[in-house]
Amino acid sequence: MCKHEQGDHFEENSTACEMCDWVNEISEMETGVRLKCERCGHVIYTHYAQLSLQLWLNSGCALLMFFLSFCFNFLGFSANGASREISLIECIVNLSVEHHPVLGIIVTLPLLVFPFLYLAFVIALLFLIKTHQHVPQRFKRLVHWLENLKPWLMADVFLLGGLVALIKLKSLAQIELGYSFWAFCLFAILLIRVVSLVDKRWFWNQLEGKSDYIVTHEGTAQEQDLIGCHYCGALVKGDAHSCPRCNHVLHVRKNNSLTRTVALLLAACVLYIPANAYPIMITTFLGQSEPSTIIGGIVMLWGMHSYPVALIILAASIIVPLAKILSLLWLCWNTKFQTDITPERKQTVYHITEFVGKWSMVDVFVVAILAALVQLGTLMNIIPGKAALSFSLVVILTMLAAFSFDPRLIWDTQENNDAPEK
Ligand SMILES: [Zn+2]
Ligand SMILES: [Zn+2]
Repeated sequence: MCKHEQGDHFEENSTACEMCDWVNEISEMETGVRLKCERCGHVIYTHYAQLSLQLWLNSGCALLMFFLSFCFNFLGFSANGASREISLIECIVNLSVEHHPVLGIIVTLPLLVFPFLYLAFVIALLFLIKTHQHVPQRFKRLVHWLENLKPWLMADVFLLGGLVALIKLKSLAQIELGYSFWAFCLFAILLIRVVSLVDKRWFWNQLEGKSDYIVTHEGTAQEQDLIGCHYCGALVKGDAHSCPRCNHVLHVRKNNSLTRTVALLLAACVLYIPANAYPIMITTFLGQSEPSTIIGGIVMLWGMHSYPVALIILAASIIVPLAKILSLLWLCWNTKFQTDITPERKQTVYHITEFVGKWSMVDVFVVAILAALVQLGTLMNIIPGKAALSFSLVVILTMLAAFSFDPRLIWDTQENNDAPEK
């Protein structure tokens, strides 16, 4: 393991909290213990036993399940004597080639491409750490990619979409779950485990070694003329333009954070109108076409007594996107104008909006699965409507808005006068 030459420029034994910028000391911890920020309580680091072995096993098994989910039938469907079976690949090809290429890409990237890249990068990094004395800088950048890809992994959301699609179809047809469906379930569970284990600080410590320097002052990184690198957790002297450990460009705070967040939210608001006005799905049954909007679909499900599914779609497609737009605007307002709402409260709101964001994609996945599966000519046919694309864009824009919001601004307005509670 190489020790980094520029040890006096950054201090990995201390790190700035990503949420509030408070400098925390990373001390030796017992297995299973979480290091929480002294000021805001955000979990900075979790110490896992045999992390390397756990990562090897979980990412290896996840990758195996990923390949197995392409080898067999994913779902089978039969109605009125006609039947159809599809694999996961056919599901994607049907959607992209026959219905909607852009929607196909929007579904394929978070469902298959990003999870595969994520797992491949984890395994490549583990392999490099094990076999190389000195890992070339260009490979170290893979850790940046793990950080960038993480919010866009949606295998778990797709699975929920699959379950909703099955319940929707249950009254119309006989459904069979193929081996690939079960392999995909295991893949989604293992992927969640890998994501929870991956820690950028652990990777950087393995790649670069630790320095012995410990910051003993209390306060934020900014007050001490330091910058916390978002990509590797290193604490860097404030005059540096890029991080000496991971080479990423450094910013004391994200540039134009509030303006960009508001602009993305306004764009999402505009697209939210066609997303609700146009049909998200068009069902053709015995030659008769019936378009349904998001709201129309929920009302129909409610009428069919599928209450849990109706509630899932209502929450994912109506409540979450609206609540997310409103709460981010509320955060921007309260951060800009320094109202007397406590930073802890604002941070909780931010955590919730960040967490729930991707689950709005459920309805898009439901439409994608139904459109790929239900293709029985004039007997029964489902195609995605215009709203599917605009709704996907609403979800993507609100997710981007949440990322461009810099949570450290919440605490900056507090004006550094409150010492942490120990
Ligand atoms: Zn903090
Ligand atoms: Zn860095």
